[in-house]
Amino acid sequence: MRDVIVIGAGGGGPVVAKELAAKGLDVLVLEAGPRHDKPREQWTTFENDANNPLTGYLRWGQQDRSKPAWFREWSQNSFMWQLSGVGGTTQHFYGNYPRAFPGVFNDYDGPDAAEYDVNHRFPFSYGELVPYFEWVEETAPVMTAAMGTREEVFFRGCETTGLPVQTTKTTHGPSYRPQENAILQPGGTAGRTSDPNLLSYPQATGCTFCGYCFQGCMRPVGAPRNQYAKRSTDNSYVPMALTADVWARGGKPAELITDAFVTRVHTESRAGTVHATGVTWRDNGSGEEHREDAAVVVMAGGCTENPRLWFNSGLPNPNGWVGRGYTDHSFDWVVGSFDTYTGNPKGTGSSSRLDFPPYGGMENVGVPPALNAFATTLSDSGIRGQYTNGRGMTGPWDGPAGRLMGPDMKELLAGGLDHVLAILVITDDDVEAGNRVVPSALPADENGPIPKVQFQPRTRSARTRRNREFMARKTAEVLRGAGAKSVYRIDWAPLLLHVQSSMRMGESERDSVLDSDGEARAVKGLFIADNSALANSLGGPNPTLTTQALATRTAEKIFRRYFGGDPWVRSESPVVSTDPRVSTRLGELGL
Ligand SMILES: Cc1cc2nc3c(=O)[nH]c(=O)nc-3n(C[C@H](O)[C@H](O)[C@H](O)COP(=O)(O)OP(=O)(O)OC[C@H]3O[C@@H](n4cnc5c(N)ncnc54)[C@H](O)[C@@H]3O)c2cc1C
Repeated sequence: MRDVIVIGAGGGGPVVAKELAAKGLDVLVLEAGPRHDKPREQWTTFENDANNPLTGYLRWGQQDRSKPAWFREWSQNSFMWQLSGVGGTTQHFYGNYPRAFPGVFNDYDGPDAAEYDVNHRFPFSYGELVPYFEWVEETAPVMTAAMGTREEVFFRGCETTGLPVQTTKTTHGPSYRPQENAILQPGGTAGRTSDPNLLSYPQATGCTFCGYCFQGCMRPVGAPRNQYAKRSTDNSYVPMALTADVWARGGKPAELITDAFVTRVHTESRAGTVHATGVTWRDNGSGEEHREDAAVVVMAGGCTENPRLWFNSGLPNPNGWVGRGYTDHSFDWVVGSFDTYTGNPKGTGSSSRLDFPPYGGMENVGVPPALNAFATTLSDSGIRGQYTNGRGMTGPWDGPAGRLMGPDMKELLAGGLDHVLAILVITDDDVEAGNRVVPSALPADENGPIPKVQFQPRTRSARTRRNREFMARKTAEVLRGAGAKSVYRIDWAPLLLHVQSSMRMGESERDSVLDSDGEARAVKGLFIADNSALANSLGGPNPTLTTQALATRTAEKIFRRYFGGDPWVRSESPVVSTDPRVSTRLGELGL
């Protein structure tokens, strides 16, 4: 019998595992996907080898890449980018760590309060979460992003908007700024040379500006795992969870089992209340099933798999909100071509942003060539100049919107990728009951009935559509202001990169799955601690920092409610994940 079982080692799960392992609890982490414990042997910078959704080493599938990827159903022109494996989708992520906007919490009374998704706010105040933001910011750690020419070009455009520069971690209003990133700043020779012979640890520390964040971070060469630049959880929280005995007084290392797909959460009835008691998991390699019991079960399988597991386990769903309220920031992509060098795609994936509460925001993004081709061809508006699918979107871009082909693509790339600036449009997206996960009618796979993600791209709320249009226009204006000679709006089809709130916590029992402590209303001893627990889409900021702050808070609630412990976030100082004690113990463990 364990104290705690955590399902999933992605963005959220390892946070709970690390925090509770540090308190000496017996924690088991079960991860459906592979463990890349020798990334320099297992990973490459070849984009197809890494990112092919069917066969890439970063995919939604099991360890053995000769076996097919796991299937999910999504019914429209869309793509959902979620990964299995230690680190989960943070293996791909860009490490941008902005805090949620204050306007999405229940105490907000600013002049624009009525303009947010007011029916789906967090069931506590922004101030309540601040100590947890600070705890994660120090643990990860979060730093002001290292910048280059790309950011100079972006800021040149931002200056023409008349908005102020933001200098605080909290976003108080429309403003622009360097990103706060969970990426270690370059040190030593890093960022000063592209000679690979000079970029090994410890001569180089932190981000080497290689530009391959998407392929999983494995640099500087020769660094211990917890010193790799990008703080995906495989480099930050997981190493800490596995070495809790050396950096926390009374800590106990968590146990991690990979290629272990949880197929069922077990419950029992106690005095008329349903309680979680444990899980069944399946070894992907052998097909054997195992049962583990625990006092507390934490679901952190992400926005799509948590509802699936809930349905497949036959857990109660009294208000019908399991899987509902799936938000995704309804992204768009606007690109400009320049006569001058822009530095795209060098350096960290994204180092500067402009926030525009309550509409959303934008950030510059550098991607390698194949992803750039993907990003400029994923459109709901057909081929620009040929047909528009009836959308015909015009605005301050070279209209109409659409995917780029032929002469347009040639024009965009005439100066090469490093004469392009690409900007991601991020929308504050309303929680809507109709955007949801349901069991698919397609055949089950070896882990049970599969999920279907149902999005309604053309019936989003009027506010979501307004927000997206507003931010797309602002983005085109920023590119013009920066000196772009052509500006193209792609009108992205739903590309699900930031997914949130499908098992949301909320103020009302009528439209939420979790209470304000992250515990399921209908199943005691069952907590959720990943993006699906978020109450809403945060106003637009990238979700992982808020998820991890919330997961830290949830870990404290678990410790108090089920193990009689004291809270610690307001009374202790966090240990930074790059702590040399973690590096040494990882070496002893051969990791
Ligand atoms: C290209 C890209 C860029 C991004 N950039 C940023 C960024 O800059 N900043 C930011 O904040 N966010 C970013 N994100 C989003 C970020 O990756 C997510 O916010 C984060 O990974 C979500 O964490 P999660 O725990 O909810 O889900 P995941 O990270 O997807 O983790 C879920 C884990 O659970 C496992 N799992 C699922 N079901 C089971 C099961 N039944 N049994 C066992 N294990 C299971 C999965 O294998 C997976 O490892 C980006 C995403 C993408 C795709």
